[in-house]
This record gives sequence, C-alpha cells and structure tokens, in this order.
Amino acid sequence: MISVFGSANMDLVAYASRAPRRGETVTGRMFRTVPGGKGANQAIAAARAGAEVAFLGAVGDDGFATELRETLAVAGVNVERLRRVPGPSGIAHIVVDDEGGNSIVVVPGANGAVTGPGKEDEAVIAASRALLLQLELPMPAVVAAARAARDAGVPAILTPAPSRPLPAELLDAVALIVPNEHEAADLTGASSPDAALDALLDRVPEAVITLGAEGALYGSRSGDRLRVPAVRVKAVDTTAAGDTFAGALAVARVEGRPMAEALRFASAAAALSVQREGASTSMPSRADIEAAFA
Ligand code: ATP
Repeated sequence: MISVFGSANMDLVAYASRAPRRGETVTGRMFRTVPGGKGANQAIAAARAGAEVAFLGAVGDDGFATELRETLAVAGVNVERLRRVPGPSGIAHIVVDDEGGNSIVVVPGANGAVTGPGKEDEAVIAASRALLLQLELPMPAVVAAARAARDAGVPAILTPAPSRPLPAELLDAVALIVPNEHEAADLTGASSPDAALDALLDRVPEAVITLGAEGALYGSRSGDRLRVPAVRVKAVDTTAAGDTFAGALAVARVEGRPMAEALRFASAAAALSVQREGASTSMPSRADIEAAFA
C-alpha cells in the first residue's frame, strides 16, 4: 500500500488563449470544475497506475467536499482517513492557455486545517510501502508525516511544490525528492539541473528533477545518474503532469522495479496525462501505461 498525506482541492479551470496580465480581462472559451489538489492527484495517479492507496487529508463541509471524496473513492483510493472539517474545501483557480501551459492560484481551505497525521494516520503510514508528500498542507503537518514515515522505515517521496524553503528537519526525513526544474532551482540556487541535482543530493539520498518535455534527471548519493527523455507527444494540458509522474514513480518503486525502469514507467504515465485535459481526469490507467511503456 502507498499512503498519500496531502491536499484535496477543487480545480476551477478556465481555458483561454492566454492568461490575463494584471488588470486585464481575457475572454475564455471554456470553464469546468475538476477534482484535484496535489495530494489527491498523486493518490489517484498511483491508484490508477495499479497500487492500493490510502489518502490522508481533509475536505470542507461544502458541495465540493462530496465530489472530492467521491472522485477519490471511484478511482479506488481508500478515503477512510479523509476528514471533513467546517468551512470551505481547498480550491485551485487555474488558467490553461492554448499552448497547454498553466497558471494557478491555490486557496487551501480545509487543507489549511490539517495539523499533522493523527495516531490513526501514523499507523496507516507505518503500514505503507511508501508515503507521498507535497507542500499544499501546513509545513509542520508535512514534517510530522515525513518523520512518522522515517521512524517506521517507510520511504517518504516529496514533491516540493508549491515552491517554498524547506526546513532541514523535513529534508532529513525524506528518502526521495521530486522537484520540477523551477522548484529545484529555487531550492538550491543552482543555474542548471545537473548542478541542482548535486546540491539536492547533499541533503537527500535520492532526487529526480522533472524537466517537462525534456524528460527527467535522476541521481543518488551512491553516485547513480540517469537521464530519461520524455515521450514525444502533443501536450494539450500539462496540469498535474508532475503529480502523475510522482504517483506512477512510487507505484513502480513499490513494485520493486529498478530506478531506470521506474522512471520510464513514470514518464509514460505523465506523457499520457499531458495529452488529456484536467488533473484527476487526465490520469492514465495501468493498462494504458503498460501499453505505452512496452
Ligand atoms: P505540473 O506542475 O504541470 O504538474 P511539473 O512542472 O511538476 O508539472 P514537469 O516537469 O512539467 O512537471 O513534467 C513532469 C513529467 O511529465 C516530465 O518529466 C515528463 O516525463 C512529463 N511531461 C511533461 N510535459 C511533457 C510533454 N510536453 N511531453 C511529454 N511528457 C511531458
């Protein structure tokens, strides 16, 4: 089992030729609501990629909460430990442009009320083969979850997004960090992905820097280096490409695949996701990934 301690948000997605500049109004061509949030996305990605997944997090008491819970459950994610708290659920306000790029404002809502994994959550983490973490919950809660994993000998896989400085106590408890190239540059101050990778490996045992259409770069403290190209596809919407990549990578690792193969599995899953619109709606099934991966 893989546990995910993270956010659930309703994504409010507007499709327009381009994102508006400050003070400007742009007329879009379509709008829809799509269940998302980095935690929920990674949970759904991992479940669809073939793992048993438990989601640990919170939704509010609004209409979005019901839809978020149902979406996770329908994807096969265990939602027994998804709490309902008073107030609004988290939302992400997203503009997708004609090139498939996106800009996003996240309002945490119920995610901001998560103070840490409770005793039951810690038991779920301890019973897992891996813990997936992101930074859309309050930092003390993320640190506590990472420590619970480390204390139980469970590898914590951190997507350090949205970008922010990371306390040493978090990095000390993480087994694998998976930033995109912007997050890697923010974390390390390095000007190239290779230099950022070296700097990350001073702080965590393993790192993967995702490079969008350029693929991904992996390194370990023991000296391994791998470069995996992206699968060449036409991107329609890159929302949650990174979350799909992280979820699928965790599944492949938990299945015991060597890192080179796990990275190819994750790249295949992420390439499938960018060819479809939305976040949770864009995650490929195990069968789709296997077909693309073969
Ligand atoms: P997002 O924030 O949109 O979820 P991200 O910035 O975290 O994404 P990226 O580095 O853009 O993550 O992408 C993650 C992975 O998804 C890449 O390593 C690659 O395997 C795949 N990917 C992203 N964009 C493309 C693309 N245009 N074509 C093929 N694969 C892609």
